[in-house]
Amino acid sequence: MTKKSLKFNSKTIHGGQAPDKAYGAVMPPIYQTSTYAQSTPGGHMGFEYSRSANPTRTALENALASIENGNYGLAFGSGLAAIDAVIKLLNPGDEVVSTNDLYGGSYRLFKQVFEKYGIVFHFIGMESVDKIEAHINENTKLIWVETPTNPMMNVIDIKAVSQLAKKKNILLAVDNTFATPYLQTPLDLGADIVMHSATKYLGGHSDVVVGALVVKDKELADRLYFIQNASGAVCGPMDSFLTLRGIKTLHVRMQRHCENGKAIARYLAKHPKIEKVYWPGFENHPNHEIAKNQMNDFGGMISFVTMGSSYEDAIKIVEKLEVFTLAESLGGVESLAGHPASMTHASIPKEEREKSGVVDALIRLSVGIEDKDDLIADLEQAIG
Ligand SMILES: *Cc1c(COP(=O)(O)O)cnc(C)c1O
Repeated sequence: MTKKSLKFNSKTIHGGQAPDKAYGAVMPPIYQTSTYAQSTPGGHMGFEYSRSANPTRTALENALASIENGNYGLAFGSGLAAIDAVIKLLNPGDEVVSTNDLYGGSYRLFKQVFEKYGIVFHFIGMESVDKIEAHINENTKLIWVETPTNPMMNVIDIKAVSQLAKKKNILLAVDNTFATPYLQTPLDLGADIVMHSATKYLGGHSDVVVGALVVKDKELADRLYFIQNASGAVCGPMDSFLTLRGIKTLHVRMQRHCENGKAIARYLAKHPKIEKVYWPGFENHPNHEIAKNQMNDFGGMISFVTMGSSYEDAIKIVEKLEVFTLAESLGGVESLAGHPASMTHASIPKEEREKSGVVDALIRLSVGIEDKDDLIADLEQAIG
């Protein structure tokens, strides 16, 4: 059996990895070096300068490619640096169709950095392929999908969008940060590029800021590698090591995130003081059927709105939580709570935000892997 044919729960540990060549170290050493000795000009052992390549980063990049069922992985200094590299594939005048309910930092990068360089972005709800098609013209070069969306937990049909993208000869990139390859592998559904903020579930321990891209196609990989090396926003050796270590337990962590997520979503749905719970595992979630087909489980990300929908009530609840930490970010072993309107999505204008449902009373939970009874008891005392 080759390592290529391993199942996901083994690939997280072994995929793309081999003991280190120098001394057989089972974990790739942290090659904390910028440069490499050459025997003669150009006579090196595959590494010459750590922006171009570093053995610890290469180990991470191979592992990323393996778990996403791709052929090439690229690791960046942050998720946004990875997105930045994708948009740099484009030229002035090119157009992008993007989900409207997306990570606030992605929106900011698109609107406030790349629009200046003449790239045009259309932010739309992607509940139907026809709607996406209506925004495509001869300048459209990229479709940007985030699913489940942040923080409204809409689920977009990757396969359906990829069929449209292929028909129109447009690249499809999927931000897979929320789902992780434990839940879905977009390249298998026809996407060209998978992007991660590995800061979240892949790293999994809230101790790094790292980004990733994975592709199947060699030419696309070469173009992205050129940008990675030319722009230089690479992931350092220490962070590469930590992310690689995180990936080794991704499957066991995700299993518990999903179990706890289900218990908490059900608890919130029954709570008399909660008006609405957004979680794709509910049968009455508008995209439940897509989620069931596309994802292996429903994850640990949940958003909810309190009865009466007041800003003050939402703030009171997040301040009272004790086991959940009030913090930006998600996907770590510890449970976090956030208030999108004032935190992660503060950079999106209120009017734009509320169009996609990010109201002032919305609270987002990243359910961790603690004992679920403790998490529910904490929510109970905070909601009151
Ligand atoms: C955090 C996040 C990003 C940005 O990643 P960084 O590592 O913070 O730069 C992009 N997309 C999603 C869905 C995220 O949650």
